[in-house]
Amino acid sequence: ATNDSSNDKRVLLLKPRGFCAGVVRAIDIVKIALETFGAPIYVRKEIVHNRFVVNELAEKGAIFVDDIDQVPEGMRVIYSAHGVSPAVREHSKERKLKVIDATCPLVTKVHVEAIKFAKQGYSLVLVGHRDHDEIEGTMGEAPDVTQVVSNVEEVQALQVPDPNRVAYLTQTTLSLDEARDIIQALKEKFPNIAGPHSQDICYATENRQTAVKNVAHNADLVLVVGSQNSSNSNRLVEVSKNLGTNGYLIENSTAIDPAWLEGISTVAVTAGASAPEVLVEDVVAYLKERGYGSVEEVEVMPENVRFGLPPEIVQAIQAAP
Ligand code: SF4
Repeated sequence: ATNDSSNDKRVLLLKPRGFCAGVVRAIDIVKIALETFGAPIYVRKEIVHNRFVVNELAEKGAIFVDDIDQVPEGMRVIYSAHGVSPAVREHSKERKLKVIDATCPLVTKVHVEAIKFAKQGYSLVLVGHRDHDEIEGTMGEAPDVTQVVSNVEEVQALQVPDPNRVAYLTQTTLSLDEARDIIQALKEKFPNIAGPHSQDICYATENRQTAVKNVAHNADLVLVVGSQNSSNSNRLVEVSKNLGTNGYLIENSTAIDPAWLEGISTVAVTAGASAPEVLVEDVVAYLKERGYGSVEEVEVMPENVRFGLPPEIVQAIQAAP
């Protein structure tokens, strides 16, 4: 035995990780809009929940605002990947804004389901996190008949006009395990509850969680690159902790506390759907410097999803000289 264990120190780089198709599309939309229309372009809310991405686009001339009121009349505004409520669309119309919609198609799919159920007279239960931009948008499709639940206790407390006319939908970035428990509780409380055709949790959320589940038991620590307000990134840390492997959500390598690495031989590294690869590279470089000499990419499943650009952007590209 030797005191120098640095040869055993390694990094497992999970795949798939990082950008999903909805995030790639949303960032492309802002970049193309800036190139073809020129700055400034307003963006309602963070285009995706990542500080680095937002700062980079702000440097190129994007102006991020929280509310449509902050966009001068007649200007161009982009809606974030998380979607907006009909009230926001109405507000933009009143202010004569030129709208480019970067809502992820998989979020739009949930909106369409909400509209359908509400029209059919269902009470809607939205499983998700109340303060998240996506839930605010989805809830807005049918605010009078929609209730949000975040855990099983809240399911127990639910009250609806007709227990036989209830439907549920979920946020796209929940923990699969947690959502399963909540949906189970809903089915027990409302045996006739209706739900989405296929689950609302998106492929990217599912794949990144599955990758962590597959590899966490081989690691002593899981580092998730992502911003603190990124829902799917937070869930990746939870998934790891639930399996007994400690994990941290980090913005970049400067967020790593060297004490976390004491006695740790294998670090698994992944990234939330809004975290750019350059930040993952930064974290891996940091770990290499600290003796984690071998970096092995572990591909748990292939992922090849791409979404087309919205018509406003396609037309702008075609019209460009
Ligand atoms: Fe779309 Fe899923 Fe990415 Fe959200 S995490 S933008 S729902 S693909």
